[in-house]
Amino acid sequence: MARKYITNQPARYCKVGFMKCSTKSWAIAWAVAALVVVAGAGLAFAPVVFAELWPVLPRLHLSATPPAMIRGGTVAGPAMGTVVDGYWRVQKISPDTYAIGEPQSDPDNYEYLLIGRTRALLIDAGATWSHDIHTAVATLTNLPVTVIPTHLHFDHTDGLRYFHSIALIDLPETRSRVRNGMVHLSRYEYMGWFLPVGPPVFHVTEWVKPDGFIDLGGRRVQVLWTPGHTATSVSVYDPGEKLLFAGDFIYPTSLYAFLPDSSLSSYETTVNRLLAVLPADTTIYGAHCCRNDATIQAPWLGMNDLSDVKNAVEAIQNGTAKSRGFILRRFPVNSRMTMITLYPFGNH
Ligand SMILES: [Zn+2]
Repeated sequence: MARKYITNQPARYCKVGFMKCSTKSWAIAWAVAALVVVAGAGLAFAPVVFAELWPVLPRLHLSATPPAMIRGGTVAGPAMGTVVDGYWRVQKISPDTYAIGEPQSDPDNYEYLLIGRTRALLIDAGATWSHDIHTAVATLTNLPVTVIPTHLHFDHTDGLRYFHSIALIDLPETRSRVRNGMVHLSRYEYMGWFLPVGPPVFHVTEWVKPDGFIDLGGRRVQVLWTPGHTATSVSVYDPGEKLLFAGDFIYPTSLYAFLPDSSLSSYETTVNRLLAVLPADTTIYGAHCCRNDATIQAPWLGMNDLSDVKNAVEAIQNGTAKSRGFILRRFPVNSRMTMITLYPFGNH
């Protein structure tokens, strides 16, 4: 049977966007669509993308963060404190209270040791698995030491592998990490997935409820839940000395409010709460060094700095603050601090 060809129908008019149909135009259309999807996903998951690329960026000579708005570095002069074992820098900051710095670590971590009558509390465990902070602690006390990480990033938890007495904030998120009695940190809680050792796997001996207390014998300190830098961050408040140990929530230099677990709205809530409950003459010690208006020493700030963070966060939230950078944006806080956030619709 002979085939019939229909020849009297008009040719169909076909377009891909503004181009006529052809194999090449379809390929271009698919490439554009793929690019849009990848760019959209990159924006939507910018904190995770940054976290994954972070170790690679310096090798590519690309700036991982937007340019600084304040003068970096510290004023020249002798660093405060005593060097222990060629690595730790121990500085007394108050009676029975010591800062333990790690100038060779990146980025300049500081831990704090609070000594009571019956035991001592170490705030943060040390920035690296390669140095055991007990070397420094042993020069300061013989009492048993409990450690509490201000948050779970590698530069605050890597030293946990050297401890048996560990306190942790008791939140659903932290409890959910327990398997067979041991805490297993997730990739973006630890953030040190590129390091040659894995995250420490540890047993919590003391779960502390948000805003609960730890008794050191004649010295009670409060564990304030201070989300912002991460969702499970804590700050330790010593009411007797009017000292707040704030971890990475606030310290001189650049505050990170853009990581996978960061929240700008939590920053706002926490900073308002701290301003409401803490005495005006509280001294704040952060976990990273250094002030640009003082010699190298434990990084301290005042409540006025906390007020400046509040003002900065509010200005960022209502769109009146000026920034540098696009996906990651750096905002001024004051002469000692900037805050890095995401683009407006990426913040939460
Ligand atoms: Zn840190």
